[in-house]
Amino acid sequence: MIWDTHAHVDDTRYTDDFPEMLGRAQAAGITRILNVGYDLPSSERSLKLARECDFIYAAVGIHPHDAKDVTDTTWDALRELAADPKAVAWGEIGLDYYRDLSPRALQQEVFIRQIELADEAGLPIIIHNRDAHEDVYRIVKEHTPKHGGVFHTYSGSWEMAKQLLNLGFYLSFAGPLTYKNARQVLEVAEKVPSDRYLLETDSPYLTPEPYRGKRNEPAYVREVAVRLAQARSLPLEEVAVQAWQNAERLFKI
Ligand SMILES: [Zn+2]
Repeated sequence: MIWDTHAHVDDTRYTDDFPEMLGRAQAAGITRILNVGYDLPSSERSLKLARECDFIYAAVGIHPHDAKDVTDTTWDALRELAADPKAVAWGEIGLDYYRDLSPRALQQEVFIRQIELADEAGLPIIIHNRDAHEDVYRIVKEHTPKHGGVFHTYSGSWEMAKQLLNLGFYLSFAGPLTYKNARQVLEVAEKVPSDRYLLETDSPYLTPEPYRGKRNEPAYVREVAVRLAQARSLPLEEVAVQAWQNAERLFKI
């Protein structure tokens, strides 16, 4: 049993084979999926899927790319979505200085606002951090979420990881762990305490080996779990169960 804790299966890339894609996930033992929003429409789609599908849960939130499009009504709408029992996290939120699609000051403002909203809603947060380590760390240190959170597709150093673990965060591993140049993230995978890691795909992005180059889908989270188990010299089963229990603790399911 593996839980893909970060996927975007509402993406149009699944329109043609949605039931088959979910079938492949179930056949591979992926029995839970957390579908993550990045703007208001995708948050609505995530919750709709979660309501229709037993084993799908939803996260709602505004990605830093979309910080520039936020209005006052966005927050009211998200608050309402977050109150649904199938909404188990606020995200994905954070900072992205790689693509810089919204001004950095605005990204920070929207990030902090959503940590506050997650606190009010009683939800943990899902953090997206790209090339913004210093500012993300400063913000989560000053505004540590009351209900915890996870750094999704963690890509930083072990030094940074230790600081985040000290603040109570979880670290989530995705396809990049399986890539040949994964030295830095492999070190984190070896050293992270057993009660702090999660597994994810970030489907349709970041396809793990040996499927790299194809569209990603939740069934492939198995490859990430296999690599994490190798890194920790543990049976796959043990890593999968541990990651599942960690996710249940964080998302309170
Ligand atoms: Zn994502």
